[in-house]
Amino acid sequence: MRRLPRVASAVGRRQLQPFPFHCSRASPITAIAPHREFTSLGFRLLPSDFHRSDFTSQPFTGSYEAGLPTSGPLGSAPAFGTPRLTPRMLKQYLDQYVVGQDRAKKILSVAVYNHYQRIMELQRQDEAAAELMAQRERRASVEAHPMESEFPGQQRTVHIRPPPREPDHHPFGQSPLTDESPVQLEKSNILLLGPSGVGKTLMAKTLARVLDVPFSMSDCTPFTQAGYIGEDAEVCVHRLLAAANYDVEKAERGIICLDEIDKIATAKVSHGKDVSGEGVQQALLKIIEGTTIQVQAKPERHSSRPAGGAPPGSFPPGGMPGAGYSSSASGGPSPPSKGEVYNVRTDNILFIFSGAFVGLNKVVMDRVSKGSMGFGQPVRASSGSSGDGHYNPSIPNQPPVPILPGSEEEALYKKHLPFFTSATPASSHGDPIYFNPLDLLTPTDLQNFGFIPELVGRIPVTTALSPLSHSLLLRILTEPRNSLITQYETLFDLSGIKLSFTTAALHKIASNAIAMGTGARALRTELETLLSDPMFEGPGSSVKFVLVTENVAVRNEKPIYLGRGHGSRFHSMIAAEESEWEARQQKRAESNSNDKVSSFAEYRKSATTGQ
Ligand code: ADP
Repeated sequence: MRRLPRVASAVGRRQLQPFPFHCSRASPITAIAPHREFTSLGFRLLPSDFHRSDFTSQPFTGSYEAGLPTSGPLGSAPAFGTPRLTPRMLKQYLDQYVVGQDRAKKILSVAVYNHYQRIMELQRQDEAAAELMAQRERRASVEAHPMESEFPGQQRTVHIRPPPREPDHHPFGQSPLTDESPVQLEKSNILLLGPSGVGKTLMAKTLARVLDVPFSMSDCTPFTQAGYIGEDAEVCVHRLLAAANYDVEKAERGIICLDEIDKIATAKVSHGKDVSGEGVQQALLKIIEGTTIQVQAKPERHSSRPAGGAPPGSFPPGGMPGAGYSSSASGGPSPPSKGEVYNVRTDNILFIFSGAFVGLNKVVMDRVSKGSMGFGQPVRASSGSSGDGHYNPSIPNQPPVPILPGSEEEALYKKHLPFFTSATPASSHGDPIYFNPLDLLTPTDLQNFGFIPELVGRIPVTTALSPLSHSLLLRILTEPRNSLITQYETLFDLSGIKLSFTTAALHKIASNAIAMGTGARALRTELETLLSDPMFEGPGSSVKFVLVTENVAVRNEKPIYLGRGHGSRFHSMIAAEESEWEARQQKRAESNSNDKVSSFAEYRKSATTGQ
């Protein structure tokens, strides 16, 4: 009789063994506050929904929050210093590579940051749902008796407590109209407008690199309506999948950049049909909005190397069963073989459109100036120069005009851009803000340019890039990481030659590039022209120093070559030209301060009188 209690307690201990839980004497149903993750998923968890089986894998028992590691001694340590992506950080990253264009950089950073947040939230929701599934399976396996499945006809385990609540099944049409699904974050596609070579592609590429999402670039010019000779608009998704190394899950969160979007606004009619204008816009509509695109893999000829170079990811879930997803030894998707079909959803792909939109500035100027004078007639000048310092869109390749305080342009900016303040210069370098009519763009202008309203409505963020001024081109030459001057210096260094440019020469190169009208691309053209001779003659010769002076940049003479042992002469030549340049600058500053106008009224007066 005495031993009986001991046996009972031993049995009790054995039963409790699988639950190393500190409150072993407490009721098996432990009350714990539900976690926020569950509520954001829409599952309203009652405290009694937690089971002991949920805690068996947890080593520490102070508190428990589903989906989070159990808090240990460092659980309450502050998270200061943890790197976290912010729009400001994205902009700072862009600043290292892209010079100027501050307004565009800000807007793009915010849009791409929101895309990143959306991706993270989707990932979190997926993980929370998987965790919930795993939890349910764990419970089911603990509750079922191990012998239950081994004997057919065996009675099912009797549940002491009520089974977990399943979603109520109402007959069709009688369910309450409540939706507890989590908030869906939708994407905001972006349109970048600006002339060629001002950094549109550079910005999109740079941001895709920092986020580590797949990125593809397609040109809209060859796009035609389905069934006609040319490319289908869907090709852009094919390219993104190839860039993601055929990882569908990764591709579905990537960025697609569609360049030359303005080319599909102006319809080209062939044989009485518009096959590349509105037809392509209609095709793009559903791709942007969200659809499933079937991609048939076409292996590249040299497919021994994976296409995108992306690290092996998780097993992609979006593909056709049995086709295309044979996991390779490393766990990532194997390179595709011919005929494999992938289904890619485009809901979460961010689209960045870009284009030069030649002539759109006139549309904008017509709109903003209408009604300001006369009978609703446009007041912009039809020809002639902007002698009064105002922008005239009819002059091609017109250098950007700084916005003067009190000018008409400033009034327009204040009217259309609420955050515009002329007091703060656009960039931290103190450059003036330049007038760009595309800053004042509205969706109506895009419709007037030739886009269908449905497409315009799906691109809510637009930002304009301004033409590059002389000072910006000068900074592009020297400032960014991978700047052109650094690139050429390194190239010459590889052949054992020291290449140098004087400040005056750099100024001249920037001026020559502005005249070409192809943006920053002109800088490379200019440098290639200047350095073609030394690049041919230098390597393998006795030349050890190459100097580009102002005279060389003006094309008055060839670059100066110096041999070994002439280092001091090389440096003294540079010093002489630099001091001459400084003296000239000082003289110019003095003459400017003598002619200085103290107010805008005086400036106007001097401009009109021509003095
Ligand atoms: P687009 O505006 O036509 O897309 P890109 O962005 O491709 O032009 O620019 C072409 C090249 O010019 C880039 O590779 C880059 O070297 C240079 N570039 C253009 N704009 C800038 C800029 N704002 N800052 C630095 N480099 C630039």
